[in-house]
Amino acid sequence: MSDTTFYGSDYAALQAFDPEIAGVLVSELERLRGGLQLIASENFSSPEVLTALGSTLSNKYAEGYPGRRYYGGCSEVDKAEELAIERCKALFGADHANVQPHSGASANQAVYGAFMQPGDTILAMSLPHGGHLTHGTKMSFSGKWFNAVHYGVDKDTEDIDYEEVERLAKEHRPKVILAGGSAIPRLIDFEFFRRVADEFGAIFWVDAAHFIGLVAGKAIPSPVPHADVVSFTTHKVLRGPRSGAIVCKEEHRAAIDRAVFPMMQGGPQMHTIAAKAVNFKECATPEYAAYAAQVIENSKVLATALGEHGIRPTTGGTDTHLSLHDLQGVLVTGADAEARCDAAGITLNKNAIPFDPQKPNIASGIRVGTPCVTTQGMGTDEMRTIAELIARAVTEGDADAQHPVSVEIREQVNDLVGRFPAYPR
Ligand SMILES: *Cc1c(COP(=O)(O)O)cnc(C)c1O
Repeated sequence: MSDTTFYGSDYAALQAFDPEIAGVLVSELERLRGGLQLIASENFSSPEVLTALGSTLSNKYAEGYPGRRYYGGCSEVDKAEELAIERCKALFGADHANVQPHSGASANQAVYGAFMQPGDTILAMSLPHGGHLTHGTKMSFSGKWFNAVHYGVDKDTEDIDYEEVERLAKEHRPKVILAGGSAIPRLIDFEFFRRVADEFGAIFWVDAAHFIGLVAGKAIPSPVPHADVVSFTTHKVLRGPRSGAIVCKEEHRAAIDRAVFPMMQGGPQMHTIAAKAVNFKECATPEYAAYAAQVIENSKVLATALGEHGIRPTTGGTDTHLSLHDLQGVLVTGADAEARCDAAGITLNKNAIPFDPQKPNIASGIRVGTPCVTTQGMGTDEMRTIAELIARAVTEGDADAQHPVSVEIREQVNDLVGRFPAYPR
């Protein structure tokens, strides 16, 4: 496969017309090939997905749903959306799928729109304990327009405080109870949430943005049989285009469809919907199931190995694609760790840990994820090597890329990613 495969359908023409942007496409591919990508929410989608994204389906206005559009000429894009819907329903065993949300945040906005009026109460996980901005934080529409009550994690286990969930549900009688987040390393007890939602007459919503790929690969239990509605992104472990989707019970079909369009969005991105269809087909293969299982195995080994270097995994480990690590034992802040790793060719992010004494922009932790490195074909041996490289960068490294330790680690990183190239030439 030639490199131009990854630059869109006519790279030569772009290069001739706009060498500046053409250059960015090249240098970004070099950046991601040249380092270790450990951001838990990122992945490398396939050339097939990228091809659908770079297609003329981008041109088509198709407000509405297949067979019920507000524009003419939708016969061909209808086929793409119908395939995406059918494949999504089959993949997750869902009654209904809406594949139009532009992103995870847009999908979430639609779920609020479907079930809540301004001022209604939602019970969700707090951001500093692993939730998400759209789960009722004050900076987001969700916290400005809705009354958000937050549960967190238990101080000892560092996992979801289920007793607190039940207590707050009883006290506040939320319209919606939300499970899921961006920094939860452990499995979530969906049966428990279902029981609490039923007891207090709430809608049970799961935001599966992070882990839906593991569900698609049948590597962890699915929230779909338990939840009224499940929203997710398609670009994280799932490995599709940057976008979102919602699956729900049949009884909520009309509310969800109306909330996505026309309540929250205009014309759907038909090229992205086609790319989601390609991705859902990929996810139904045995290769993808093996990938999802390997993502978790790698994540467990990486979390344990970092722990052996004094970089403690919260909750004692992980069941998923990500782990959250407490740096207080090595006396380094999350911000310094992120900068030192970056200088050494390792991309990861600082992250608040539960009960973090530092401000969010400094933080006491890092979050690491294995979706990208597993897509590159790395296994558990490489995870042990990566843990050594991270530990060295964090404890002995420097934010200056010219520092001898940064240079030395970067050489080792180059050697490793050279053996497992992202987007092999
Ligand atoms: C990533 C994420 C989102 C937002 O997705 P975007 O596509 O960035 O809008 C929403 N919820 C959770 C839990 C996420 O992890």
